[in-house]
Amino acid sequence: MTDAMNFSDEQLDTQQSFDDWEPAPEFAPPPPAGTYHMYLDKIRDMAEKQTKQGLRLFATLDFRIQGGEYDTRAVNFQRVNNVTFNRRDGKATSFMMDLVKSGGIQQAPTSNKAFALALQSIADRGPGTPFQGQLDWEGVCGVCRDKFLMNATQSGTIEEAKQAATKEDWDGARKASVKAKNYRAFPINANGSRKDIFTCPDCGEEVRAQVQIKRFIP
Ligand SMILES: [Zn+2]
Repeated sequence: MTDAMNFSDEQLDTQQSFDDWEPAPEFAPPPPAGTYHMYLDKIRDMAEKQTKQGLRLFATLDFRIQGGEYDTRAVNFQRVNNVTFNRRDGKATSFMMDLVKSGGIQQAPTSNKAFALALQSIADRGPGTPFQGQLDWEGVCGVCRDKFLMNATQSGTIEEAKQAATKEDWDGARKASVKAKNYRAFPINANGSRKDIFTCPDCGEEVRAQVQIKRFIP
């Protein structure tokens, strides 16, 4: 048996942290809005879905910040697809195309399969291929969303409502549940940063910031 009495009695600088100690918060606050170097850490899910443009690829991806104060912080559950839209500069692109180009893919992916392989290759290179992602926050109230969906579909349970909801219902639910559109819409802390939690003004439930990547840049 080791006798505790034999260990060093040299004083450690622990009094202050002992006195100030609080239980660890359940979630660390997310990184503030801004542009971060990051890499594609994991492909969670990929599926093809029928859209107005035909069959397109939808992916759910996990990223990780590289370098700086938030090094290794995960940015998970980001939805990326290859549905084409016109940017304000008039150039046709898709969010997935922005990622593929920023991730250094040299050859144009011209099918969903090629897009999937391009994402796979960016994920395989991991931290070796950092690009930049512009992050923002969004505060969505799940209680207000569910209430809207149940009303709109006249359903008794949220499961039924989700089954019955039309695209218009989902659009309405989104409008009814977004309580903070971006970082600046969150309550301000004394030091100028933003609080990542606030009380929903409509139902009183807690709304927590969700981090979203808004833009990929090489
Ligand atoms: Zn609410």
